[in-house]
Amino acid sequence: MQILDGKALANKIEENVTLEVTDLKAKKNVTPGLAVILVGQDPASQAYVSMKKKACDRVGFYSVSHEMPQDISQDAIENTIKMMNQNSNIDGILVQLPLPPQIDTTKILELVDPAKDVDGFHPYNVGRLVTNLDGFVPCTPLGVMELLKEYNIDVEGKNCCVVGASNIVGKPMASLLLNANATVEICHIFTDDLKKHTLNADIILVGVGVINLIKEDMVKDGAIIIDIGINRAENGKLVGDVDYANVAQKCSYITPVPGGVGPMTIAMLLSNTLKAAKLNAAKKA
Ligand code: NAD
Repeated sequence: MQILDGKALANKIEENVTLEVTDLKAKKNVTPGLAVILVGQDPASQAYVSMKKKACDRVGFYSVSHEMPQDISQDAIENTIKMMNQNSNIDGILVQLPLPPQIDTTKILELVDPAKDVDGFHPYNVGRLVTNLDGFVPCTPLGVMELLKEYNIDVEGKNCCVVGASNIVGKPMASLLLNANATVEICHIFTDDLKKHTLNADIILVGVGVINLIKEDMVKDGAIIIDIGINRAENGKLVGDVDYANVAQKCSYITPVPGGVGPMTIAMLLSNTLKAAKLNAAKKA
């Protein structure tokens, strides 16, 4: 069994982004800029935003966070997004989800300029992904594809079982695999007999949020396991959706949690923001 080391690859990507940023600043006087919108006090969201901001600082991006109270109005968030859409120092806009219940999340995501949609959540970019056109792709599944590529794992013709079908993880993951010529099954909460599906898979990619959902008897020998889940165990430690200790004995490759898909998500946010900055600079030139 080999570990798919997301932390090591993320570090490598960060180094490359840093070099490109230095180059962009020197040659074009462009500093990539990311605006983050964070609503409320959810500790997980606060932790993610802080990690993203630190990563921006490390690679030399300009970053700004708009922190808003839980009872903020729809109009106030929309006005902030409109401002960021117009702001030429900002190349990427990230709205940290989930938003509070009084907010129409779809309307908010649709307001982000698709050229600054570094999370790839705008329906325009979703459509481009599904039709296999270039655009912005959600960071977590994009990071999984990069990790597979780094270890020369070709998904073409492989049976891939994606467990979890959210707009930010499972669905874009399935689209990326399909675009890379995999045979893809998508399972979710209503799937009957999950084990029947996972047992058939060469690659299982699980992003659900249930500790130990994928157990040893659900995995065929030599399968590749991508654990996208992030859960807080009773002892306070971060764990994924896979019963790691037991499944690791059976598979050929596995991502650890932490240190697997998580760091890749942040690395892809950096690379999407750099891509946006380059495209925006080319438009201005
Ligand atoms: P979500 O709640 O939006 O979606 C969960 C999905 O899992 C749904 O499609 C649901 O049908 C499915 N599901 C729920 N229980 C199931 C079960 N028992 N069997 C099969 N399917 C089931 O969640 P999300 O935002 O997609 O996040 C999923 C997980 O991925 C969470 O643990 C989250 O923390 C993690 N996540 C990790 C990263 C990362 O960077 N590694 C990024 C985003 C989300």
